[in-house]
Amino acid sequence: MPGFKLFNRRGELVGPIEAPRVELSDAEWRQRLTPDQFRILRAHGTERPFCGTLLDNKTAGVYCCAGCGLPLFSSRSKFHSGTGWPSFFEAIGPGNVAERRDISHGMVRVEILCARCDGHLGHVFPDGPPPTGLRYCLNSESLQFTAETGLAALADPATDPPAGSAGPSAAADAGSEEGDETLALEIAVLAGGCFWCTEAAFEQLAGVLDVESGYCGGTPETANYKAVCSGTTGHAEAIRIRYNPLQITFEQLLEVFLDAHDPTQKNRQGNDVGPQYRSAIFYSSADQRERAARVLEQAGRSGRFPRPVVTTLEPLTHFHLAEAYHQDYARNNPDQPYIMYHAVPKACEVRKKYPRLFTDDRR
Ligand SMILES: [Zn+2]
Repeated sequence: MPGFKLFNRRGELVGPIEAPRVELSDAEWRQRLTPDQFRILRAHGTERPFCGTLLDNKTAGVYCCAGCGLPLFSSRSKFHSGTGWPSFFEAIGPGNVAERRDISHGMVRVEILCARCDGHLGHVFPDGPPPTGLRYCLNSESLQFTAETGLAALADPATDPPAGSAGPSAAADAGSEEGDETLALEIAVLAGGCFWCTEAAFEQLAGVLDVESGYCGGTPETANYKAVCSGTTGHAEAIRIRYNPLQITFEQLLEVFLDAHDPTQKNRQGNDVGPQYRSAIFYSSADQRERAARVLEQAGRSGRFPRPVVTTLEPLTHFHLAEAYHQDYARNNPDQPYIMYHAVPKACEVRKKYPRLFTDDRR
């Protein structure tokens, strides 16, 4: 029997564990799959680019085979390829995704298939980002997404300890360590005025896994919207960005940051006035502090801004997540990635010029 990486009941990826393949007749597949899924998974079809539902999914989690549920790709290896199809630089386990030479359509390509049910997934190309240099190009229809919080639901019976044994099997233990050997994501915490605007500007960047709004610089007792609005808490409205440093660097994030707000305004952004709207970079290490200082110094010297850059460098002590309704704001409008990055800074301008047009709780 082939060995697959599988999830256990604790939501941990373990293995490889030997498990049977899934072999069904076409009639059985037709019953199990939607017509679109059947066309792609079983009849080797391709969905149209930019149409797939998982293309812009940035939630942390796992992509499984829509045919048999085998885990195939982690969000940690998802990247923005610009091709219009969900793209990954690495399979979740070498035994989970099979490859086959494909000479259809007058091209020589490498087809990728689910190793358990032979479902067609897409193709793999040698033009991906580091560390693998590969681009696994997927059809959304071939995949089923499960968020990180729900991974225990993907538990495969093959991972259960054999009846009568006290604990998890040795194989599962060894596997869970391997499962932890994942890509190191990094964190950047930035304050540039209203966190709705900064959050939105970063949310759609390739390599940015998620952006959260919160408060930074004050104590836990005052880390709430009402208190922070008073301007006396030491907190700034800030965002915490979780990113893949292989796809976007800290310096690149800071460049976007400098574009997404006005770093020359002290303790305000337009009509938003007070130290809670200050421009600040909260560094989490000496390395981040040095790199941020360099970017600010270069920005100051570049002539790019008409006035001196006043962004402060402050040590990151604790990032306090803002209330849920603040997190929702930017995520309610994420549909068009490019438009988002270009339109939101403008939207913020409009918001500053016409604050009354925004009938939210802030005014
Ligand atoms: Zn499958």
